[in-house]
Amino acid sequence: MRRVSIFGATGSIGQNTIDLIARAPDEYEVVALSGGRNVAQLAEDAQRLGAAVAVTAFDEMLEPLREALAGTGIEAQAGQAALLEAASRPADWVMSAIVGAAGLEPGLRALEQGATLALANKETLVCAGALVMATAEAHGARVLPVDSEHSAIFQGLIGEDIGAVERIIITASGGAFRDWPMDKLRGATLAEASCHPNWNMGQRITIDSASMFNKALEVIETREYFGVDPGQIEVLVHPESMIHAMVGFRDGALMAHVGPADMRHAIGFALHWPERRELPVERLDFASIGQFTFRAPDLDRYPALRLARSVMARGGLSGTVFNAAKERSLDAFIAGHIGFLEMAETVEAVLDRFESQPGLIDASLTLDNVLHTDHLARTYADEAMAARAG
Ligand code: NAD
Ligand code: MG
Repeated sequence: MRRVSIFGATGSIGQNTIDLIARAPDEYEVVALSGGRNVAQLAEDAQRLGAAVAVTAFDEMLEPLREALAGTGIEAQAGQAALLEAASRPADWVMSAIVGAAGLEPGLRALEQGATLALANKETLVCAGALVMATAEAHGARVLPVDSEHSAIFQGLIGEDIGAVERIIITASGGAFRDWPMDKLRGATLAEASCHPNWNMGQRITIDSASMFNKALEVIETREYFGVDPGQIEVLVHPESMIHAMVGFRDGALMAHVGPADMRHAIGFALHWPERRELPVERLDFASIGQFTFRAPDLDRYPALRLARSVMARGGLSGTVFNAAKERSLDAFIAGHIGFLEMAETVEAVLDRFESQPGLIDASLTLDNVLHTDHLARTYADEAMAARAG
């Protein structure tokens, strides 16, 4: 039996992971499941999968979780310390599917106990890529990408020499606003930004797809995971979302990964790797699809992509700053405090402010420095937004 844990089990990736695990219950021993406020779902899944422990991230949800699990023999826990303790429990495979930088520490704990970390939480690599990869190495653990583009690149590199790679192309659907006129974007509403043309995902990544902050994070994720130069990474708008990424080699050949927009492929690939097993995803019918289309991303429409380039050029802790400022401005957009384009404006203002404190950006990449910088960047984002509003 493989021991598995799922962090962020109640979210979109978490539920897709549970869908796959629940199809073969005899193969898995479920150690820990974590969630947030949706304790009814968490308790239901913990019972269905026979988990040893269920953890809600929020202390105030402990009582309702306890009640939902009363009499089941499943441990109920709450809060950050409990989350980290659960991530430290021995497991063979751990899904990291919490949203945001909150996913970093549980992922590190899982690596420290030697688990294979299936990484949907791209923020982990954006905030602390080198620290995460070094932690994996030090403990003989492995990180497997689950983001669809990165799973696609990983698959395109099987049997290949990374030194023969000339370029990596990650595709982007273009999100909800790809065909909107520029002058309408400033007034885009939360409801409009929360609809994705192709993928069914959590609300935060869906809005990040409309702004292309998601793709910006993914460009940095590509650099951190595969270690290629920023100049080798390209973004291509591909509205059909069926080619997830392409790896180009020095002989001019390109390996494209093609599949339906269903995260169960990338999750299942990471779950079964190095084997390939049958997965319940749609088989594509190219004759009925007819054509794939492509266009270059418009950097005026998507300033996040330009900011990702400067983050990679700057290096150090600028990824931590970028992600934290993005998370904070996304919170403010969701709360209705700022407009759609003000998210990128806020992130840029925070990055600029850190430029005047190079000692912070160039500090060594320790967990303490990452957490401190993340916190400070959120404060600066609040200040930048308050200054605008005032
Ligand atoms: P989601 O919002 O649907 O789920 C997030 C999960 O994290 C939930 O279980 C929630 O309870 C938990 N959570 C939220 N805040 C938390 C906190 N502060 N502490 C602990 N737990 C917390 O998100 P999602 O769409 O499933 O995305 C999860 C991660 O996977 C993100 O990093 C996202 O970028 C990445 N990802 C998602 C998709 C997708 O198709 N949804 C694709 C690629 C990558
Ligand atoms: Mg992706």
